[in-house]
Amino acid sequence: MNDAVRNDTGMITPPAMLGILGGGQLGRYFVMAARTMGYRTTVLEPDPHSPAGKVAHVHLVAAYDDTAALEQLAATCAVVTTEFENAPAAAMAQLAAHVPVRPSADALAITQDRIAEKQFLVDIGVSIAPYVAIITDDDVRAASTFTFPAVLKTARLGYDGKGQVRCPSHAELDAAWEQLGRVPCVLEQRLALQRELSVVLARTVDGTTACYPVSQNQHVHGVLDVSYAPANLPGSGQADAAELCTYIADELQFVGVMAVEMFVVGRDVLVNELAPRPHNSGHYTLDACLTSQFEQQVRAVCGLPLGDTRLLVPGVAMVNLLGDLWANGEPKWERALASPAAHLHLYGKPEPRPGRKMGHLTVTTGTPMGATSLAR
Ligand code: ATP
Ligand code: MG
Repeated sequence: MNDAVRNDTGMITPPAMLGILGGGQLGRYFVMAARTMGYRTTVLEPDPHSPAGKVAHVHLVAAYDDTAALEQLAATCAVVTTEFENAPAAAMAQLAAHVPVRPSADALAITQDRIAEKQFLVDIGVSIAPYVAIITDDDVRAASTFTFPAVLKTARLGYDGKGQVRCPSHAELDAAWEQLGRVPCVLEQRLALQRELSVVLARTVDGTTACYPVSQNQHVHGVLDVSYAPANLPGSGQADAAELCTYIADELQFVGVMAVEMFVVGRDVLVNELAPRPHNSGHYTLDACLTSQFEQQVRAVCGLPLGDTRLLVPGVAMVNLLGDLWANGEPKWERALASPAAHLHLYGKPEPRPGRKMGHLTVTTGTPMGATSLAR
């Protein structure tokens, strides 16, 4: 079954079944891109009302480590990928015995653990913010020599700024650790950021890579608020960022689409974190690039040639639509859609809880800054 859809070039071609762990909006766009190209899709996701499950050909409503569900994925899919870094590496390893898993369980194991990820970045010579691992009471005591202010982050399962507590000084560290449940953490120096950048890139099995233009990101309360592209970088900034991120993907032997989040501090570019999947800051590619990051994910995991990542407009901005916007009922979309340059995306989530990413709005017009103010 799986072999029948692999042609002699090793490409997985339509109408092969593609599997994905996770049913959020990133999975939804993967499914839609795959469907557009004529593939079939199976989503493994425990939430019966998930954004991706609703549009997939097959939705396995089961836990990510459910043996029977994993067996079905392995038996019916030509390749399996993921839309979130917390897909259990053990489940991916189990699948990998029967079906190509891209990215690999090893790459996921690194990117789902901040301690492993930072160690990896240091080992390959990439600059990151000063940090120490906090695993034991001794680590808390020893951190008295660390430079504060700092932020304590759980090593695993953090997202959208969750699982983080600020520590103005060493005196607050123990209480901060207590608040996070005394799980393994990283204590990171809190830096004065000039700006935040990210690069989404794709890498294939044979090591071919393609980067999207660098985007500049603004966060509010730890959650991405606005992203615009291309970031206005001096000199060879775009090419330098692409080179750095390609190097990281190569060292990670990454296959699929990944994102690299960066901090600009003074003259330095420090890597904040890696996301082993398409990224919120790459949503602009849906409306503004020749190939969206999700079509690119399909291409990368299926072994197809990567698509052209060129930006089709001079500037594009994306604003996230959080559940807070629904406080007084359905937002007035007619206002947002009044501009012909505005593109509305809603993910079909039933409950608009505060802080929950419900959708986004992209504006493709003029300069990145012009698009940003229009989007706001
Ligand atoms: P996301 O899922 O949105 O990527 P996350 O929960 O994985 O977020 P981080 O990316 O580590 O967490 O942090 C979220 C945001 O908090 C960063 O984008 C940045 O704005 C701010 N932040 C994190 N670490 C630092 C730091 N060391 N110094 C200054 N600001 C920071
Ligand atoms: Mg982040």
